[in-house]
Amino acid sequence: MHETSKRYIQQRKSIGFVPTMGALHKGHLSLFRRARDENDIVVASIFVNPIQFGPNEDYDRYPRDIEGDIAKLERESVDVLFLPDVKSIYPATFKTFVYVTDLSDKLCGAFRPNHFRGVTTVVNKLFNVVKPHKAYFGQKDYQQYLIIKRMVEDLNIDIEIILCPTIREEDGLAMSSRNSYLSSEERIAAKIIYKTLLEATNLIRSNLQPSDIKQRMLQMLLEENHVKEVQYAGIYDPESLDELDEIKRQCLVAIAIKIGETRLIDNFLVDV
Ligand code: AMP
Repeated sequence: MHETSKRYIQQRKSIGFVPTMGALHKGHLSLFRRARDENDIVVASIFVNPIQFGPNEDYDRYPRDIEGDIAKLERESVDVLFLPDVKSIYPATFKTFVYVTDLSDKLCGAFRPNHFRGVTTVVNKLFNVVKPHKAYFGQKDYQQYLIIKRMVEDLNIDIEIILCPTIREEDGLAMSSRNSYLSSEERIAAKIIYKTLLEATNLIRSNLQPSDIKQRMLQMLLEENHVKEVQYAGIYDPESLDELDEIKRQCLVAIAIKIGETRLIDNFLVDV
């Protein structure tokens, strides 16, 4: 990969990069298309990164479909698939981690210790190998995008980080590789996330206080029988990720819940 990218750079070709964990869906495809529009060369990586999963999380059963993924990459005219194995990313001698303080411990970070440390470490490594000019991330994982932007700025990494809109199923559920874990009843119940984000958006626009909006969000989510846990739900500052006391010009409405054993997240950025 390193040699391939060096060759493209010598030929003055721009490289757009989309890192993924595979089991590709239309959300991923939208990133490939954006990268295709804006670059000479599109590189995708598929790597299920063990160090971003907690000990009781789904690393072993994370969906994997490399044959199906390759067919999709070919259809989208992605030029290069980088498909490293775990040993080449983390050889026995590996000792270095990249950790963005503060932002990595909020929202999802509070429930997934070391998750974002795993993400920033692997993304930094992938950036060094792929050497892209631009890299594309989905808004569904807004916190991840924010943390990677912080890392790139703080470490003077010369890569433009681009945020792409969340692609949804017809009923509003954000596409996710993890949706395949849901039973048919859980899949129907999962609509409540999008409904709650819409309701919160309306309440923001009607000038309700964030604490009242949060109460309404919790109530809606917990009324749904399949919701086993609400990890967080509320209105946050899109830069600091702190919970807001008052509505600002731009608000992040974000939710993380467990439906059965499946953890799902989603968010809206709301301009007031
Ligand atoms: P993942 O394979 O889940 O690690 O995701 C790889 C990239 O695809 C990340 O930048 C995600 O934010 C992005 N992504 C995942 N789901 C969606 C979606 N429904 N819409 C847009 N981007 C997405």
